Amino acid sequence: MSDDKPKGDMDPEAFRREGYRVVDWIARYFEDPGRYPVMSRVKPGEVRAALPASAPESGESFDAILEDFERVIVPGITHWNHPGFFAYFAITGSGPGVLGEMLSAALNAQGMLWRTSPSVTELEEVVMAWLRQLMGLPASFQGVIYDTASVSSLHALAAARQAAVPGVRAEGLAGRGLPRYRVYCSEHAHSSIDKAVILIGLGHDALRKIPADAEFRMRADALQAAIAEDRRAGIVPLAVVATVGTTSTTSVDPVEAIADVCARERAWLHVDCAYAGVAAIIPEYRHVLRGVDRADSVVVNPHKWLFTPFDLSAFYCRRMDALVEAFSLTPEYLRTSETGTVRNLMDTGVQLGRRFRALKLWMVLRYFGADGIRARLGEHMRLARLFASWVDADPDFERLAPVPFSVVCFRARPGGRQWSENELERLNQGLLDRLNASGEVFLSHTKLDGRFVLRLAVGNLRTEERHVRRAWELVKRSAPPSGSDAFPR
Ligand code: PLP
Repeated sequence: MSDDKPKGDMDPEAFRREGYRVVDWIARYFEDPGRYPVMSRVKPGEVRAALPASAPESGESFDAILEDFERVIVPGITHWNHPGFFAYFAITGSGPGVLGEMLSAALNAQGMLWRTSPSVTELEEVVMAWLRQLMGLPASFQGVIYDTASVSSLHALAAARQAAVPGVRAEGLAGRGLPRYRVYCSEHAHSSIDKAVILIGLGHDALRKIPADAEFRMRADALQAAIAEDRRAGIVPLAVVATVGTTSTTSVDPVEAIADVCARERAWLHVDCAYAGVAAIIPEYRHVLRGVDRADSVVVNPHKWLFTPFDLSAFYCRRMDALVEAFSLTPEYLRTSETGTVRNLMDTGVQLGRRFRALKLWMVLRYFGADGIRARLGEHMRLARLFASWVDADPDFERLAPVPFSVVCFRARPGGRQWSENELERLNQGLLDRLNASGEVFLSHTKLDGRFVLRLAVGNLRTEERHVRRAWELVKRSAPPSGSDAFPR
């Protein structure tokens, strides 16, 4: 059967023409993302309502598609590239990273097996070794790339479960008279650890949160005491998750002391360095990974603070055998003659298909170089310290956590009267809402020991000192004045 409908892809000339337009759009966007409000102002449902409910029956022109991209999609974007983006962990999809992403999309290589694109597997091995060396981690760590830290930590705990309960793969955990298992992390660990514990079938109650000290670091003595108490109740420690750079305050758990506990208790040690691990690329910050060389697994996210477009999470493991034991499964149709002599990425995780993520990281590392990366990370930390110094010097504000990296936790506390915690929460929530409505900056919040705190995170390559100054100006302007009784509406 044949008809006269076109069957092939976009023709090469059209691709070239539209491709140039798209690159021009990106270049213009990168020139000045600050011309958009940083946080999208659309109302819930607005984007959906502006689009047809069904796909078009006939193909449309790229003109029409790009027009709707600009008219409907862009207004619904919160601009993570905006120099005033200070929320969560600020990130950058850098130029070289975006170009790498484009080439990866063009190649559309799927790296499940070595033979389905040897470069996908081998470049991943190369860049993971580069990054490991840059951070000063030993060669005993083998690397594999996943999409997110959540997925990396899930694989870490699945490998830990495999190592502790070898029969789990065949027989599961239920109805076999096994002891109860426990995973430990600090009260400030990321929620991805909770999800991982749920997903590996231990149940959420199997996660025990260890109290932190006054600087939000896990207390190793409290960890040891919790394990001892659990052991007396017949509960076996399966894994401990330490964090270097916690989500709220970027505090650093005492990994060396925690590694001692894990060695004594024969528990798997996973270290979540999703945000702050890359700081170790700077020699003066190498110490933040002290003790991490003794971990069984580590995660660091180049998509957080290493200028790599989302998503790319670097997972390192010293027990790759346990990971492969947990996940390797080769059906007949995926058998190859080179198995045994090469690495097949499908053996190292739950997913079969793999994007070619290593390409963008390779381009980022080569384009900026180690010295360029150090300079940029160092500048972000300088800007955060500068902001912290303004907070410290102002009697109407207070800082609520140390600033080891590039995140500042602070709040307004206007002088001249006593405030209850409830009042301060309302006041600072109002301040945050007004700041974010400005369109010039976007900050997020957290709670520390029950106190509502604003977070300013510097991590975008387009953020310069003038943007941080402007953020402080806006904070000052949006806060109630000293001696004020009035609550923001
Ligand atoms: N771990 C830490 C310490 C984090 O701060 C975050 C996110 O901010 C995550 C893990 C989760 O990262 P991802 O979005 O890559 O899953």
